[in-house]
Parts: sequence; C-alpha cells; structure tokens
Amino acid sequence: MPILEVAELAKSFPGARGRHAALQSISFSVSPRRTLAVVGPSGAGKSTLLRIIAGLEAADSGTVRLGGRALDRLTPQARRIAMVFQDDALIAHATLRANLRFALRARNNAPQRVADAAQALHLSELLDRRADRLSGGERQRAAIARALLSDPDALLLDEPLAHLDPPLRVHVRSELLRVRGGFAGPVIYVTHDHVEAMAIADDLGVLIDGRLEALGNPQTLYDAPSSVRIARFLGSPAMNLLDRMPQGYGFGDVIIGIRPEYVRVVKTGGLPGRVTARQSAGADAFVHIETPAGTLLARVTSGEAIALRGSVGVEFAPERIVRYDRITGGLLA
Ligand code: ADP
Repeated sequence: MPILEVAELAKSFPGARGRHAALQSISFSVSPRRTLAVVGPSGAGKSTLLRIIAGLEAADSGTVRLGGRALDRLTPQARRIAMVFQDDALIAHATLRANLRFALRARNNAPQRVADAAQALHLSELLDRRADRLSGGERQRAAIARALLSDPDALLLDEPLAHLDPPLRVHVRSELLRVRGGFAGPVIYVTHDHVEAMAIADDLGVLIDGRLEALGNPQTLYDAPSSVRIARFLGSPAMNLLDRMPQGYGFGDVIIGIRPEYVRVVKTGGLPGRVTARQSAGADAFVHIETPAGTLLARVTSGEAIALRGSVGVEFAPERIVRYDRITGGLLA
C-alpha cells in the first residue's frame, strides 16, 4: 500500500475582509497502516484539508502524492481515496445491502464481500433493512463499511462520530479501531475532540487557524505540548499555565505548565492557595484554587474533603512540570 504525502498545501477563500487563508503551508506524510489524527477547533481547516486530498476541492498551491504519484490532476474517482463524512450519505430508500454493493469497484464475489464487511461492523442482521430505518450509529458503521468496500488506497474520515451520542460514539469508535486494524493503507482522521483524536491516533497533528502547529506522538504531545498555544488547546480541561510563579520555588522566569491531574492539594506546605470553586465530575472533582502564581485547576478524587473557600497548599508532581519561554511560548527543555 502507498504512502500519502502532502507538501506545502495552501488554500484561501474569499472572506468579508479579503481572502481568508483556510490552510497555510501544510506538509506531512502518512505511512501505510498508520493513522494520522488531526485535531483542531471548528473552522481550523480540517474538512478543507481532507476535501483537497480527496479531490473534492482544488488547492491554491502544494501537492498531494499517493505512492509517489501526484494526484492533483486526477478526479476524485481516479484517486482511489475513500472519505467518510459526518453525515453518512447513504441512499435512504435502498437497503443496507444495496448501499454496500453499490460501493464495490469489482463485482466479482460481491455477495461474500458485502457479507464480510457487514459482519466486520456488526451489521449482518440489518442487511435487508432500508438505510433510512437504521439508527445513527448503524448508519455511520454502514458508511465506514461502504468506504472500505470501495478498496481504497487511503481512507479519510471527517468527524465520522460527531453526530452520535456519547455512549454510542465510544462504541462505534471501538468498532472503527478494530476494522482499521485490517486496512493496509494510510488513514487520516479529523476531529475537534482531542479525546477521540488521542484514542485513534498513531500520530497526532494539531491544526489551528489553518496551520499545522504540531505533529508527533500523541502521548508526548499531551504530556509536553510543544507550545503554550498547543497546551491551551489539547486536553479538557486544558493544562494549567502559570505565568506569575513567585520567586523561591526554583522555577526561574518561565511559564509553568502542569495538568490538573498532577496538581496535589495538601494541608501544609506547597504554594499557598484558596479554594474558590469545586465541580464534581463523577469519580473525580475539579477544584479551582487561587494562588499567587495564578488560578489553577486540580483534579482530585471526589471523596477528598476539600472545603470551599478553605486555605490549602498546592504541590506539583515535579516530573510532570513543563516549562515554556515567556516570550516565544515555546517548550523549554
Ligand atoms: P473545520 O473542518 O476545521 O471546521 P473548514 O475546513 O470547514 O474547517 O473551514 C476552514 C475555513 O475555511 C473556515 O473559516 C471556513 O469558513 C472556510 N471555508 C471552508 N469552505 C469554504 C467555502 N467553500 N467558501 C468559503 N469559505 C470556506
């Protein structure tokens, strides 16, 4: 299976105040059997990126290559790239079986291939049902099956779980992870949900305002975001960023980053603080603490007795602290 390469891709659209850059100088590659998850807020350019790769939109400049071959002049059909959208785009009045058969490029062995794809996505019982009588989760699974049946060389997924309720999202996501294991080509998955991105990614890209701000190992990027901008975006709640750390704690003149799960609330010692709010999140609770370094969030177990408006001490797990340059916002070693 071929490698997918994107080089110096740029795209702008006419906007209210001149042209608006939707993508700026985007370059990356995705090897066969790898999944690049691209996470970014709404309007970051995620759909535009996938639409250009699929050939549904033309780039202003830059190239897309699959297996070393430039795709720019090829029609979407000739590119052999399948795309799954937020909305499944099934033919409403046709059965699931007909929808799946329709996707097949080669007609040989069609019934068996449709049956296998349906089984892989746990849809076998539903093959004779009309598409418009399927539930949201079933329809999205059908859209994934259909994409795989078209024998693509690469697979693009544009927030395929966005319209599903949370429990169903997790369910369809695990099915997707399972069938993805059987797909030999490169996969790009875009989403605004960093949890989903982390769950699916071999490599994680962060797209903000049309720029690929970071690209790397998902856990590394989560643990030590490469800039303050990424730290603000990746994680919910986001990383605490403290830019007023008092002298005497040995941190120097930098911005300190620490995730809420690595902040400990202690009775004595530590950075002095006052609890200003407490939010339960089931098994955990988030405690807002005002300190001389700034307001921060600590994740504690919900059983921990931490009084509202009480005085507390705050400690950071030292190995979990990251430091950022105050001027450039870049990660410091
Ligand atoms: P995302 O998928 O990350 O939400 P999009 O790729 O849909 O972002 O959009 C990126 C930017 O490009 C947005 O500012 C959007 O308004 C703009 N845009 C996308 N498609 C068009 C279009 N066809 N015409 C004008 N502007 C567009």
